[in-house]
Amino acid sequence: MTGIEQLCPNCGLCCDSTLFADVELQKRDDAKRLAKLGLTLEKKGRSKLAFAQPCACFDGKICQIYHDRPQRCRAFDCGLLKRVNDGRMTAAAALKKISDTKHRAEKVRGLLRSLGQRDEQMPLTHRYAEAMSAPMDLSDEVNADAHGELMLAVNDLMNRLQRDFLQ
Ligand code: SF4
Ligand code: SF4
Repeated sequence: MTGIEQLCPNCGLCCDSTLFADVELQKRDDAKRLAKLGLTLEKKGRSKLAFAQPCACFDGKICQIYHDRPQRCRAFDCGLLKRVNDGRMTAAAALKKISDTKHRAEKVRGLLRSLGQRDEQMPLTHRYAEAMSAPMDLSDEVNADAHGELMLAVNDLMNRLQRDFLQ
């Protein structure tokens, strides 16, 4: 079994918006074909096309267009996958880190929902920005505590993503 087969169906963090808010198409990508396959492409900047995450082609476990996926998706191997592939980490250790990180991401999503941000189709970082920029009633202690908890949970999640997945 390859590292991808062992890790990715148990993860999905690079497709569900935990790691990335969007994916930019590259020159070799066939935008028309990808749109037909289900990706909702939008202009990004002056000349680029991108699709937002959570990806429309992610079914919660795997990529539904795996053999046709865009170049950026093909090129991305997270840190855990690299370490498992070159033997520096066992698949079991990587799966434990994935499970732990997913648990922390779910905690962030739960806190966002408790603060009224329930748009599961919006990238996680955008949801966080929206929740934190909403006017806050400082006399409401429960609400103020939830904001504080959210900040800590996001900080913790970002540190783990950076350490385990992005290097
Ligand atoms: S973050 Fe890594 S382990 Fe998870 S789905 Fe993406 S490549 Fe696979
Ligand atoms: S196209 Fe596939 S690999 Fe790329 S983000 Fe979407 S689900 Fe993930």
